Amino acid sequence: MKSTVECAIDTKHRDHASCLKTVQAVFTDKCKLDNIKRVLDLIAAPSAKFPVIEMKEDLGPHDTDTLACPLWDKVGTLIHEASHWLASTFDYWEYNVEKTKLFPVPPPRRPGAINGGWEHQFDELKEKSPKLLHKNADTWAIFAFYVFYRKFPDKLAFVPQPPTALPPAIKKISQERTIHVGRKPSRRISIS
Ligand SMILES: [Zn+2]
Repeated sequence: MKSTVECAIDTKHRDHASCLKTVQAVFTDKCKLDNIKRVLDLIAAPSAKFPVIEMKEDLGPHDTDTLACPLWDKVGTLIHEASHWLASTFDYWEYNVEKTKLFPVPPPRRPGAINGGWEHQFDELKEKSPKLLHKNADTWAIFAFYVFYRKFPDKLAFVPQPPTALPPAIKKISQERTIHVGRKPSRRISIS
């Protein structure tokens, strides 16, 4: 992701046009490259420490419920959560009074808020607030997928599964952070 964004910024790079096209496919041509890079630098900083150990046991039991693409689900979840943890990205968005633009809001989700997740209302967010896509957690998971596969994930891979014996899986990580494990509604937990 990082090399793609840097190459999209570097107009002299031999792959500049192709990199820019990749970045804009996800973030649109309205999102500023500087904003994208700033968030990505936080997520991919060598000093960035993400509590993978805390998430590990929560990820394990649920992997089998996404048979369509289990590896992607794990990777996407980690990137999504890392963006929350390291760059304070959001899941939920609310409309302005004129109902023309969406703005990020912290959890808990309030009535009328949309979910910026790929399998939820990402497309609505992309249409209404393309300049703010870098603030949406799932955008980073989608971007990672797009950079690797040169296509968007299949939405059918994320059809919600019926809830099955999910453990409470709540861990106290920080008094100030809110994190949820997994990108599906049925998996989401909040820690406050
Ligand atoms: Zn999230």
